[in-house]
Amino acid sequence: MRCVKALQLTLAVVKPDAVAHPLVLEALHQKILKNFIIVRKKDLMWRTEDSERFYAEHAGRFFYQRLVEFMASGPMRAYILAREDAITHWRGMMGPTKVFRARYTSPDTLRGQYGLTDTRNTTHGSDSVDSAKREISFFFPEFNADEWMSREEPRLR
Ligand code: ADP
Ligand code: MG
Repeated sequence: MRCVKALQLTLAVVKPDAVAHPLVLEALHQKILKNFIIVRKKDLMWRTEDSERFYAEHAGRFFYQRLVEFMASGPMRAYILAREDAITHWRGMMGPTKVFRARYTSPDTLRGQYGLTDTRNTTHGSDSVDSAKREISFFFPEFNADEWMSREEPRLR
C-alpha cells in the first residue's frame, strides 16, 4: 500500500520592512524554496483600507494604527506555500512575534535574524487551517484551492 501524504496550504507574506532590503528578500525566498512547494507568488502593495480589513481582529490594540500604516507603507510579497505541515512549519521558521524576544530565544528564525521592531517583523503566516483559507482568498481571490489540490497531490506519492 502506498502512503499519500496530504498537502496543506498556508499564506506567507514578506512584509514591507523585509521587501525593502533586496538581500533579505532574496534570503527569505531561498529559504522558502528549500522548504516548500511555491504554489503562487505575488508582489503587491496595500491601501490602508486593505490593511485595516486584514488586521480587523487587532482593532483597538495599542499597536493597531502603527501596524496598519506600516503594512500599507511599501511593497509586499505574498506566497501560497504547500507542504504536509505548511502552517506550523512556516510559523516555526518565522519565530516569535516580538523581535526582541525572537532575537534572544530563537536567533535562527527569520524574525530573530532580520526583524527590526515588534511591528516591523519581516513576515506574516497564517495560524490555523481556517485563517489560511481566509487569508489565501484575501490575497489570491482568483485561486481555487480544491482544484489545485486535486491536480497536485498525486505528485507527492
Ligand atoms: P503574528 O504575526 O505572529 O501572528 P499577531 O497576529 O499577534 O502576531 O500580530 C500581528 C502583527 O501585529 C505582528 O506580526 C506585528 O507586526 C504586530 N504586533 C503584534 N504584537 C505587537 C506588539 N506588542 N507591538 C508592536 N507590534 C505588534
Ligand atoms: Mg497573527
